[in-house]
Formats: sequence, C-alpha cells, structure tokens
Amino acid sequence: MSTQTDKHSVIVVGAGPSGLFLAGELAAAGVRTLVLDREPGPAQTPKGNGVVGRAAVELRRRGIFDGAGLRVVRAPQFRFGPLTLRLGLVGSPLHLVAVPQRRLEELLERWAVRQGATFLRGHEVTAFDQDGDGVTVRASVDGSPVALRAEYLVGCDGARSHVRKRLGIDFPGVTSGDISRQARVTLPAGAVALTRDRVEVPGVGALPLFRPHLTERGSMTLAPVRALDPSAPDDVYLVATREPNGAAAPTDELPDDELRASIRRVLGADLPYTTSSSARSVVGNSRHVSRYGAGRVFLAGDAAHVFSAGGSSINAGILDAVDLARTLTAALAAGAGASAVDGYHARRHAANERTLALTRLQHDLEGAGSWGEALRGLVSGLLASRGGARRIGALLEGCRTARF
Ligand SMILES: Cc1cc2nc3c(=O)[nH]c(=O)nc-3n(C[C@H](O)[C@H](O)[C@H](O)COP(=O)(O)OP(=O)(O)OC[C@H]3O[C@@H](n4cnc5c(N)ncnc54)[C@H](O)[C@@H]3O)c2cc1C
Repeated sequence: MSTQTDKHSVIVVGAGPSGLFLAGELAAAGVRTLVLDREPGPAQTPKGNGVVGRAAVELRRRGIFDGAGLRVVRAPQFRFGPLTLRLGLVGSPLHLVAVPQRRLEELLERWAVRQGATFLRGHEVTAFDQDGDGVTVRASVDGSPVALRAEYLVGCDGARSHVRKRLGIDFPGVTSGDISRQARVTLPAGAVALTRDRVEVPGVGALPLFRPHLTERGSMTLAPVRALDPSAPDDVYLVATREPNGAAAPTDELPDDELRASIRRVLGADLPYTTSSSARSVVGNSRHVSRYGAGRVFLAGDAAHVFSAGGSSINAGILDAVDLARTLTAALAAGAGASAVDGYHARRHAANERTLALTRLQHDLEGAGSWGEALRGLVSGLLASRGGARRIGALLEGCRTARF
C-alpha cells in the first residue's frame, strides 16, 4: 500500500454539492482540504434542477454564480406536494435559483479549486481508522490501495454513505410503500398542447405543470425541461409516475415498456411520447441519522438525511456544510480534537428534523382516498392564510429562527 505523507487538515469524501461546497468553504478559511471521489469525473445523470432555500443566498454571497447567467430570486410560489404555496411577488421568504445539478457542481468545483481545495478522483474510500491525533483513510485507486492522513474526515458520500455505515451510525426513518418511475421523454410537436401552467394530454385532459395530477391509481407529474433549463430542446419533458409498489425493485435502468405501462395504469391512457432517456425508478425514503458523526469523523448532506419530497435536499446539504466549515475551522484553531461533533449535531439535527417533517407532509398530501382528501382540505386552508403561507415558506427556506 502506498501512503501519502502529505497531511491534510480535512479529507472530504464525495464531490456532490455538499462535499464541493464544504471543500471550498474550508479552503477559503485557509484549511488544507482534500476531496476524494470514487468516480473518474463529475456525474452525468440529470438530477436536481435547482436550489430552493437559504443555500441559494449563501452561494450567491460567495460569488459562485458570478458570470454564470444565473439569478437568485424570491419564489412567488412553491409546489407543496399537490398544492401550491403562494408567497406573493414582494417579500417572499423563500429564495431559489434554477440551475441543473451538473452545472451547479461544475461551478462549485471551479470555485473550490480557486479557494485552494485539492481533488483526487477515482479514489474510492474503503476504510478509515481514527486515533487521538487524526484519521487514516484507506482508498482504492484502480484496485490498488492507498492511505491518506488528516485531522478530520467528513462523509459527504451520498444516501448510501460508506462513512456512515462504517461508523455504525443508525439511519432511522421510513421507506414509502409507493414507487416512482421517472424519465425524460420526447413529445413531438402536436402530441400535447402546452399553455403557461398546464399541459393538455389527448384523452386525459389538462395536467398542472410540475404538480402531481392525482388519479385513483396514483399520480403523474409532467413538465417541459425547458422551464428549468433554457438550453433544453422544446419537446423534452420530465415525467414521473407514483403508484403503490407491488414487488418492483428500484432501478437506475428502467425499461421503456415499464415506464409506458406505469403511465397507462396511473393515467388510464397512453402518453404519446417517442423516446425516453435517463429512465429510473425510486422508492422514496425519509431518513435521518441518529448522530452527525463520531469523534473526528462527520457526516453532511444526503449521507445524513434523505427526504421524501423534492426541492429541499441540496439546501439542507449546503446549510450543513456552512455550519460544518465553521465548526471544523474553529476546532482546528482551538485544537478541539474529538469534541466538535456535539454542537454540529445539535444544530443540524434540529434544523433537518423540521425539513423532514415538512417533506413528509408534502408526501402524505399526495395520498389517495379520504385520508388524502382530508389532509389536502386542512393544509390548503392553512396555506390560504398569508401568515400560514409565510411561515411554511420560512421553514422551507431553512431559516434558523423558523419554528413549527
Ligand atoms: C432525479 C433527481 C432529481 C433531484 N432533484 C432535486 C432538486 O431539484 N433539488 C434538490 O435540492 N435536490 C434534488 N435531488 C436530490 C439531490 O440530487 C441530492 O440531494 C444531492 O445530490 C445530494 O448531494 P450530496 O453532495 O449530499 O451527495 P451526492 O450528490 O450523492 O454525492 C455523493 C458523492 O460521493 C461519492 N462517493 C460515494 N461513495 C464514495 C466512496 N466510498 N468513496 C469516494 N467517493 C464516494 C459519489 O461518487 C458522489 O459523487 C434530486 C435527486 C434526483 C435523483
């Protein structure tokens, strides 16, 4: 095994949005930071379409969007499950920036490198051990083992986090009984009629854009990619069905006939698309770690929490990183050793419990039958009041002061 003697202060595992931002933030504070990622380059699979919440402001403040043609705006409305949270044109408490995740990661990596962070790709972390002075991290590079040393280690290595598992930290929560099938599809001109806020599907009727169309069998969401990414072609749409999960296992390679069959079951009609790409199926998880680290090893981003509704994950991961960068910078300056994890855990666990509750509510609002109807009736009443809407908006923003 080769051992790198170059000692870093912090090693970050994972070059997703949370790890990239954390690395840039630490490096900007003068902390020697190394990022390891098992992939040879940035992921190409389309994922998130935007950052919703205070993270958008934190990114703008650091100049990460400068010259990129991206604008952080106050969201006049937000899709809250199948309902619309109307926040008004002036003074909305919720910020957002529409940016495809691949582009966001590109901008974050460029910024992190400018701050002085170092990257090693093609390095899969396989093990680590901590002692009184630091952490020894073992990685596999093209099948050969290497060892690296740092004072602290952070797992930003996604929902299936190796770091979390190796620490033996629980990830309690719930797995949905529904399965969601998602893809990008090409709908040729004339196949559907698009208006400002709806898409008319022949034989079905008008479906609201970006909001689930509820049916007896489940729900379907349809929206043009162009509304999120101006460089996308006009005829490419995002489609997602949700229905009870029989025995299907989630997969990153969903066959087209399974997608078509799911649409037919949910809508009661075919969607006249020609081709599909990036088709996958997911079973929603809503989970939160019992502890944000142990000793000199910390967790952030999806490694620490996964939510059952869209739009909050990148915000939560970046806000973890803002806090953790401060925590680690202070711990390094004070030689605090293993005690820094307590404060970080207390702050971020409380904040992300609120996000967990909000996303569980959004998920349950899509429920079928009289339970779903009752919940929708109650919550739409709350959202209709200006005070109620602003409070939910502030909670989605991830404001430190917002409480239930
Ligand atoms: C289809 C889809 C749409 C989404 N839309 C949105 C959205 O609009 N808004 C939003 O906020 N969120 C969205 N999300 C969620 C969002 O993509 C994730 O929350 C986000 O990627 C989490 O970032 P992360 O940095 O914590 O982890 P990840 O992005 O998962 O990054 C983890 C990194 O760790 C690396 N890694 C893993 N294990 C190891 C190891 N052992 N050694 C080295 N490297 C390792 C991986 O290669 C990866 O690069 C969406 C997700 C999907 C799938």
